[in-house]
Amino acid sequence: MSEKIPKYHITTYGCQMNKSDSERLATILESCGLTATDDLAVADLVIMNSCSVRQSAEDRIFGQLRKLKKLKAERPDMLVAITGCLPGRDIDGQIRAKMPEADLYFPTKEMVQLPRWLAELRPDLFHTGDSVQDYLKVTPKYAPGSQAFISIQTGCNKFCTYCVVPYSRGREANRPAADIIAEARGLVETGVVEVTLLGQAVNAYVAPDPESFAKGNPYQDHFAALLWELNQLAGIARIHWTAAYPTHMTDEVIDALTLPKQVNYLHLPVQAGNDEVLKRMNRRYTAAEFLEIIDKVKAKRPGIALGTDIIVGFCGETAEQFEDTVSLYKAADFDIAYIAQYSVRSGTQAAELFKDDVPRPEKKRRWQVLQQLMEEIVLRKNQAYVGQQLSVLVDEEGDGWCGGNSSEMKRVRFVSDRSRMGELVTVKAYHAMEWLLMGELVSPETPDAE
Ligand code: SF4
Repeated sequence: MSEKIPKYHITTYGCQMNKSDSERLATILESCGLTATDDLAVADLVIMNSCSVRQSAEDRIFGQLRKLKKLKAERPDMLVAITGCLPGRDIDGQIRAKMPEADLYFPTKEMVQLPRWLAELRPDLFHTGDSVQDYLKVTPKYAPGSQAFISIQTGCNKFCTYCVVPYSRGREANRPAADIIAEARGLVETGVVEVTLLGQAVNAYVAPDPESFAKGNPYQDHFAALLWELNQLAGIARIHWTAAYPTHMTDEVIDALTLPKQVNYLHLPVQAGNDEVLKRMNRRYTAAEFLEIIDKVKAKRPGIALGTDIIVGFCGETAEQFEDTVSLYKAADFDIAYIAQYSVRSGTQAAELFKDDVPRPEKKRRWQVLQQLMEEIVLRKNQAYVGQQLSVLVDEEGDGWCGGNSSEMKRVRFVSDRSRMGELVTVKAYHAMEWLLMGELVSPETPDAE
């Protein structure tokens, strides 16, 4: 009789960093002999990689747990594990206490213990896999395709008062530049042409091994230097990074925006446009300083598309202070914003120090004001692309069409008589909407292949 091959299923919530961590989880599990399944009903191990950034994200985990409770009643041997930001920030175990269905509950970096835990829980099914000390040394099991995420850093030292990350992921830790460059090189060999570097304050990157940078590297700033190194890799056509912290947009990092493989897009979270609110958030810049950085960025790379994150209705934010955010939004002329209505996260400084005193309908109103402004601005900005040629990396296809992101991170679709998945093509835009540009194929574009 053949031995049963155990199956795992991972559900990932939240940001790209969590997606990258799930790829590491997959590597660890496969080293223990498990294979992936999309079907929860046959999974021997179900892992939820949780997000804790907002209450709604946590509510989704509890909703999924209720479903799993039913499955577990039918198949009591099925193991349920919860990792990610939720266990990371649950210092007093209060959240854990509400999850009796979970067999395993661990912060992200503890994933290296999984082989041992699984073998202890089900010695009949799981065998111990490769042993690693540092989870960032685990090579992710990348999703197939032409794009890949590379975590260059985890944790954060900034302690924005509303944010759980410094508690859930711990203090900032940077990966060696040599490991990052090697990972990127390996990805090229698998056909990846676009890499996205991930970190909580990605441009605050400090290489533990600066000697890994080439002698001819023109930059002293470690993040700029890393970008330059990755630009030298043949085969990589696009480099993207997120999320940047404004005060780490040094002159060199701004200069690195002109490197040839840098996408024509920058994501720079501002969070608010009023200095008092920024101070209460413990963001370490003023609105004027933020706009100064934006001016420098635009001077260095005219036409760059800009994205940001904004929280509306933060503790004590008055209607007038919110208007400062509206003014800043217009002045920066962002292409896109991820706008959140503030929600209290237990364990954060804001939860202890301030009152969540902006009523919910008012938060919603402020969200709608910005949302509408965003749609007006992005439509105007997108119309400027009509008639222009855009470089598009195809990652989606339908019946007779293909789609992908331009270098400005705009969604673009065009008619195509065949699959062009993973190809870089040139498309001429002929029609602009808020979130989509329609275009016609001009030519396939070959990635840099020096
Ligand atoms: S920079 Fe602020 S918002 Fe971003 S992860 Fe760090 S503490 Fe959180």
